[in-house]
Amino acid sequence: MKEIIQITKNKLNNEDNEDLSKLLLKNWTNWKWQVKNTIRKIEDVEKILDIKFPQEKRNEIEETIEKFPMAITPYYLSLVDADNYENDAVFKQCFPNIKELSISTCDMQDPLSEDEDSPVPGITHRYPDRVLFHVSNICAMYCRHCTRKRKVGDIDSVPSKKEILIGIEYIKNTPTIRDVLLSGGDPFLLSNDYIDWMLSELSKIPHVEVIRIGTRTPVVLPFRITNDLIDVLKKYDNIWINTHFNHPREITKSAKTALRKLALAGIPLGNQSVLLRDVNDCPHIMRNLVHKLVANKVRPYYLYQCDLSEGLGHFRTNVGKGIEIIESLRGHTSGFAIPTYVIDAPGGGGKIPIMPNYLISWSANKIVLRNYEGVITTYKMPAYLPKDCDNNCSECNLQHDADVIDKEMKTIGISKLLCDYEEDITLVPDNLERNYRIQGVAENNE
Ligand SMILES: *Cc1c(COP(=O)(O)O)cnc(C)c1O
Repeated sequence: MKEIIQITKNKLNNEDNEDLSKLLLKNWTNWKWQVKNTIRKIEDVEKILDIKFPQEKRNEIEETIEKFPMAITPYYLSLVDADNYENDAVFKQCFPNIKELSISTCDMQDPLSEDEDSPVPGITHRYPDRVLFHVSNICAMYCRHCTRKRKVGDIDSVPSKKEILIGIEYIKNTPTIRDVLLSGGDPFLLSNDYIDWMLSELSKIPHVEVIRIGTRTPVVLPFRITNDLIDVLKKYDNIWINTHFNHPREITKSAKTALRKLALAGIPLGNQSVLLRDVNDCPHIMRNLVHKLVANKVRPYYLYQCDLSEGLGHFRTNVGKGIEIIESLRGHTSGFAIPTYVIDAPGGGGKIPIMPNYLISWSANKIVLRNYEGVITTYKMPAYLPKDCDNNCSECNLQHDADVIDKEMKTIGISKLLCDYEEDITLVPDNLERNYRIQGVAENNE
């Protein structure tokens, strides 16, 4: 412990201590050393940052840790500005706050119904063609804003191959799944061999076209992106990676090196940020973040509205803040630097995009639009007489070669309502009261 405190402190203060540099080189960049020395005690944070919490504050933190444990990699803690830690965006994401214990009326245990939408353990199957596969329950760092906070602190253990095989079997038997998202926990906390094994098993399934990996290691443990890991990933040619940067200060030299390695391996990189109060709820910070991301070959993918998990109340902004941020990006910067702002709908509704309104009005012949500058403009609609689609692709001029999967995929939702060839004209909730009334009348008449 003495060693880690000294090394981390040294890193933090950017001191050029010759004796330590050797040790630093050897250990600091060794991801296993970082994991082994994950900081879990308040007094270690105090020693490293050279701060002292008043007794009352200390009791509060202890109480919080009892429910939601703390784990911070020495690397991530070294990014904190110790002189102003209370306002520090990195500190807030990793250090407990008593506010995590206040449960507000809108909080929910499992707001995304991930446990409910689970056909077999480890799999959440919400969308027809893709699944979320929880392959790891370990994280290098416990983010205070974790949406799966309810599970943080459950025993960190590597799921057995037998457990993983149940999920793989489900994917194998469900031919509509073409995209598998490995998540957890953090899949990159597993060993290279284990990752290699999972990827090879998934790659053997003919209908799996894409494998996505969600990992925060480039942010909290960039040294995990070793050459050996890259060698494993390079064996597969259908991998995408999404990472989770929330603040420009997280894009350090080490993080850049990790991203560069992944990009050079030919892996498309995306980023999912969470909109967090007093961390990144500011158009300037967000613009700076997305610019730094694209400069490092990372495409901003989603900006999440903070969800309704218990213990996140103090991180939540209102939705207007998110719309304001998107308004400040669209038109003002490169289109590919703009994430889609989404609310992951409570109850398992999935991600719903939210954005400013650009369509102001329309008539039979024209639509009225506004741009980012406030210019109001019109688009005269072309004479376009589409013919009805009867879903018979072989008879259509568009030369679409419908395959088996196309035929197996059912048209659902609003898309179904729009289809020319579907009979349905309404979508009706299961428990529509009006239906009960009609049924009741029918039963009475029998
Ligand atoms: C987010 C998510 C996905 C993937 O959604 P995309 O919009 O394709 O990124 C899939 N399944 C579940 C359960 C999810 O939460």
